[in-house]
Amino acid sequence: MKSSMGVLITYPMSTYLQHQLQNRFTLFRLWDLPTNHHKEAASIQAVVGSTHIGADRQLIDSLPALEIVSSFSVGLDKVDLDYCKQRGIRVTNTPDVLTDDVADLAIGLILATLRRICESDRYVRSGLWKQNDFKLTMKFSGKRVGIVGLGRIGAAIAKRAESFNCSLSYHSRSKKPELKYKYFPNIIELASNSEILVVACALTDETHHIINREVIDALGPKGVLINIGRGQHVDEPELVAALVEGRLGGAGLDVFENEPDVPEELFGLDNVVVVPHVGSSTVETETDMADLVVRNLEAHFSKKPLLTPVI
Ligand code: NAP
Repeated sequence: MKSSMGVLITYPMSTYLQHQLQNRFTLFRLWDLPTNHHKEAASIQAVVGSTHIGADRQLIDSLPALEIVSSFSVGLDKVDLDYCKQRGIRVTNTPDVLTDDVADLAIGLILATLRRICESDRYVRSGLWKQNDFKLTMKFSGKRVGIVGLGRIGAAIAKRAESFNCSLSYHSRSKKPELKYKYFPNIIELASNSEILVVACALTDETHHIINREVIDALGPKGVLINIGRGQHVDEPELVAALVEGRLGGAGLDVFENEPDVPEELFGLDNVVVVPHVGSSTVETETDMADLVVRNLEAHFSKKPLLTPVI
């Protein structure tokens, strides 16, 4: 039965999710509301945000009846967690259900970058194969892979890379004694000891620009950077300069500092693969994420324990 609870969705992130919400709650769409949404605000108890628009202080302040933020993402960098805590607003996210997809994409980006899959596809389509064989590329199997942030997604990437006979190392806040991978408390040492560096940590004040010039230079002209975390983890102008100047061997990027803007200097570089923040964007996972968002809201409104509580 449809409840009278009001849910505000901040961005048209998933048609399936919108249908599920509309079937159960009174759904408000932020992009359809007047900028000054005073009239509707009193009826809104929940916000469903995403990686594009979450729940910042301004939005939270505009919703006096807000009880819960249910994020259609695992990353919570677009939700003002401190302010939610202060205001007693519950927060949920969508961990685990997207881990496999993001880890799969990380491996896909490694292979695409090292084996030049996108460039060789362009080679065939443009008829160049008729003139010459394609150049030699780089092997992935057996490489030294460093992971920044060995959480759910980082560990899933490590597991996949192990099956390519790679040696694994990582940097995160804490050492994971249960895992046999080598731990580097210092990210520059991790980069110096890696041929491929994969960014998979949460975006916080401490991890903003965790990949800076020093880390890029430590990875070096034969090293490859893969980012499936957040664009803001990387100092993008430094990354672009390193790639253009040949100080970094290549990059496979799902995320960027100012999405959907991507630095145009990257478009001419064949050692770079860029995809439009599609880490978790599969039909199956979109459904699982949406169902989790809805089940968290239903649990909250029926005063049951949240399935994936953050606060
Ligand atoms: P998670 O299990 O919470 O793992 C986060 C990891 O970040 C942990 O290993 C944590 O280290 C590490 N970390 C936090 N602060 C750090 C710091 N200051 N220095 C170094 N490492 C730090 O989260 P997850 O489910 O794996 O997701 C990770 C991130 O992936 C999300 O936050 C999101 O930004 C990104 N993501 C991207 C996509 C995409 O479409 N590209 C999709 C989903 C998620 P400790 O274990 O030591 O605490």
